[in-house]
Amino acid sequence: MATLSPLLRGYDQVILDLDGCVWLGDDAVEGSVEAIAALRKARKPVAFATNNSWHSGEEHVTKLWRLGVQASVGDVVTVGGALSHLLAETRSGRTAFVIGSQVTHDHVVGAGLRVLNGTDLASRASVVVVSGSDRFGYDDLRVAALAARRGGDLVATGRDPTMPRPDGPWPGTGALLAAVETASGRTATIVGKPQPQLFYTALDRLGAGRTLVIGDRLDTDVAGAAAAGLDAALVNSGDPAANGGPSAEGPRPVAIGDNLAAIVLGS
Ligand SMILES: [Mg+2]
Repeated sequence: MATLSPLLRGYDQVILDLDGCVWLGDDAVEGSVEAIAALRKARKPVAFATNNSWHSGEEHVTKLWRLGVQASVGDVVTVGGALSHLLAETRSGRTAFVIGSQVTHDHVVGAGLRVLNGTDLASRASVVVVSGSDRFGYDDLRVAALAARRGGDLVATGRDPTMPRPDGPWPGTGALLAAVETASGRTATIVGKPQPQLFYTALDRLGAGRTLVIGDRLDTDVAGAAAAGLDAALVNSGDPAANGGPSAEGPRPVAIGDNLAAIVLGS
């Protein structure tokens, strides 16, 4: 079994990003399964925190098991869960128009909002939710923009411009949100990283300890870790061009590596 890098020996526990860090599309990033196994063998608890709103926590757990990583639903903190919590606390009973996957629709309904998609009243919804969707079209953009211009709260799961995939970066939630913000003249409230909430939830589950965040984006993982008061390491296995080179502003990672294994195992 591989031993941990000097960097990791200085931390008690780890919060990992998923897309571009643990996996790329359907496949594990090379060495990531072994790196997670080594962390657990060294008794360093691992939690996962993801801005991915296409899939549920259960679906992420199923995928982890398929790739060879044991995990339970409690180990995975999703932006969908954070969205549901925020809406239930602040906007329950209101109406919503939703751009997003079935998982996101379910979270909005579960939070006590009435979803108006497909009705004549959709453009008068009092909350507009924007998250990852592979069925995004002009009608969605038109209705979302009208509702937001009429005063609807614009809430989005994230601003990630891209989502790393094996054939190159695919449009992320931020690309869809940019269209809605441009058309409506409104700026969204963001639920996911770089807001610190996903990391706070992960820390609740892990408990106290020196914590390292590892992710593939400066603007979400590293910036979000800094907002939560945590160190972060950056991996280049996602969409490295998104990290802007030496001119990128904002919090800096404590380490940069080719992939998770390079950070965790030093290999
Ligand atoms: Mg990522």
